[in-house]
Amino acid sequence: MSDAEARREQLVETYNEASVCERCPLSETRNRVVFGSGNADADLMFVGEAPGADEDEQGLAFVGRAGQLLTKIIEAIGLRREDVFIANVLKCRPPQNRNPETDEILSCQPFLERQIEAIRPTVLVGLGKFAAQWLLKTAEPITRLRGRLGDYAAAGPGAPIKVMATYHPAYLLRNPGAKKDVWEDMKVVRELLKE
Ligand code: SF4
Repeated sequence: MSDAEARREQLVETYNEASVCERCPLSETRNRVVFGSGNADADLMFVGEAPGADEDEQGLAFVGRAGQLLTKIIEAIGLRREDVFIANVLKCRPPQNRNPETDEILSCQPFLERQIEAIRPTVLVGLGKFAAQWLLKTAEPITRLRGRLGDYAAAGPGAPIKVMATYHPAYLLRNPGAKKDVWEDMKVVRELLKE
């Protein structure tokens, strides 16, 4: 089996496990597990916080208004949604879209770790506080992390995976003035992908 086939198989196995997961109480309130989707060989992977109402209903990541804005962000750097992989820190929706709890993140993180291990992107973009902090293993606020490049701590052997922390598209819907900051961050990502 080639390396690419082995990594794809790992992703499918992870999907199968996540789709019936009951490791945390969110399994009792979710409608659908939202594993994430996209290109299994993507150079660029986005990580958000958790599914919202639309995602929970459809079982797909970033399909609501924030998802439409994320699609525009991806297209602004010359890529299509199907070129990248999009996932969340949590695979199930927290009730009323409340913030993820630490226990939930700890229960769910093996899925994201295995997704990243299988996809092995060149660049990870952390969308918002929870994703940025998880990827960079820090408690610093997103205002400090945004725009700063870091390394994915659990990358393992092989080429390091760069992390760009930026604002979540849902935040941009409420604060359109911050779009220019995200554009600056995405220009850096675009250059990293060219290297
Ligand atoms: S949020 Fe993650 S750990 Fe919790 S039930 Fe869903 S898939 Fe399992």
